[in-house]
Amino acid sequence: MNQKYEAVIGLEVHVQLLTKTKTFCGCRNKFGSPPNTNVCPVCMGHPGILPVLNKKVVEFAVLLGLATNCEINKRSIFARKNYFYPDLPKGWQTSQFELPICEHGFIDIVKSDGLEKRLGITRIHMEEDAGKLIHDQGTDSLIDLNRCGTPLLEIVSEPDMRSAEEAYLYLVKLKQIVTYLGICDGNMEEGSLRCDANVSIRLKGEKKLGTKTEVKNMNSFRNVEKAIEAEIDRQIDIIEDGGKIIQQTLLWDADSGDVKPMRSKEESHDYRYFPEPDLMPVLVNDDWRKSISESLPELPEHRKKRFIDKYKLPEYDAELLTAEKPVADFYEAVLNTTDDFKSASNWIMGDVLKIINERKIKIEDFPVSPENIGRLINLINEGLISSKIAKEVFPVLLDENKDPRTIVEEKSLLQISDDSFIEEVVGNILGNNMDQVKQYLDGKEKVIGFLVGQVMRETKGKANPAAVNKILKEKLEAFR
Ligand code: ADP
Ligand code: ZN
Ligand code: MG
Repeated sequence: MNQKYEAVIGLEVHVQLLTKTKTFCGCRNKFGSPPNTNVCPVCMGHPGILPVLNKKVVEFAVLLGLATNCEINKRSIFARKNYFYPDLPKGWQTSQFELPICEHGFIDIVKSDGLEKRLGITRIHMEEDAGKLIHDQGTDSLIDLNRCGTPLLEIVSEPDMRSAEEAYLYLVKLKQIVTYLGICDGNMEEGSLRCDANVSIRLKGEKKLGTKTEVKNMNSFRNVEKAIEAEIDRQIDIIEDGGKIIQQTLLWDADSGDVKPMRSKEESHDYRYFPEPDLMPVLVNDDWRKSISESLPELPEHRKKRFIDKYKLPEYDAELLTAEKPVADFYEAVLNTTDDFKSASNWIMGDVLKIINERKIKIEDFPVSPENIGRLINLINEGLISSKIAKEVFPVLLDENKDPRTIVEEKSLLQISDDSFIEEVVGNILGNNMDQVKQYLDGKEKVIGFLVGQVMRETKGKANPAAVNKILKEKLEAFR
């Protein structure tokens, strides 16, 4: 990026809420049903219908507002945002405009250089989604109204980000928060979390904001980052060539890696916003707000700090384990069975997450119970198996998920700590490797590693390594 310029970015994020029913009617809010089956006159926008607000939508909005340090407005109102499109039979989207439910919040991020930054949230408002046009069925365009009236929250940030990285980190954090709250599944590929990026540039030191463009159509966090980078470069090229930025909406094309113009930007007055006459103002009194705040779960930042304090985990472990709530839950479930905090962390960050990634499954579907992971760790710590044997038990656990002790017994993998047996094996190994014994006596102590290896091989990894080391040394010294 040309060092003369500074980028300014603000994000508009839509999250699809995990309520059972839609925003203003009792239809099911469910993804993947046959087309036009979760519909009624209200969400299909028939004339004369009357909307009834879903209480859960308000609760979810307040939860998110509290989790992102917003002020919760005691009174907010719905507005009609009027426009024509075939996926919007009503002719307007019921949204919030002048008085949204939450305002003036922030999210803190930590950048790769270790610096913290606070990014402002202008507002969070409640709104409904539109339906879906289907163009790929080899016929004329079709319409599925199942999504009409499903609840969304829109989170509008301040233009506080100065790089694509900051925008990326903001999104990661926001996704973490909504999934911890359980109000959205955060799946950007499936569209339950969508992000539009507003981008402008200005000369460094300039206070006034430049003309912005809005980039849409990114289906992953990495694509948001790439699209913003491409748009910053495009704007700098235009300015450097003596041109002017025109305010417009652009579409990101992931295949070509650039942005393409979609339409000139509409202004809010184009929508003829006006207060929704069929809905009462939304009133959140202190009692309601308090009862919602009491249902706030522990948030990722706090959980990470707690993992560091309580379980003495390194920052790296705590960050990784708390990145997704189900993983943090799994970790703490393992700790119901073992007190070895760090080993539990190592097993999850290593073997468990590796399998999850390979099999592309969720940790909720991981075949081994947290309890059995804990038991496996205990078997090692009690000296009953070596960590090497544990790595052999693990694949069996993946298939059978039974008490690891049973597996160890069935497969005769119990560690041998019986000194007389180990002494006998060590004696044989030394007898067969007199060259190495001589080298040891000549001061080449490193060969002890080789000899330990031979003993472990002979015992199929079951000899207690500490005992082997001790007995080997004793026997070698006895040769002097
Ligand atoms: P619009 O009316 O075009 O939707 P808003 O004022 O509602 O514009 O802002 C939409 C988003 O664009 C917000 O996230 C805001 O922070 C961001 N934004 C506003 N002005 C700029 C700018 N000049 N450069 C980058 N982002 C901006
Ligand atoms: Zn309906
Ligand atoms: Mg706007």
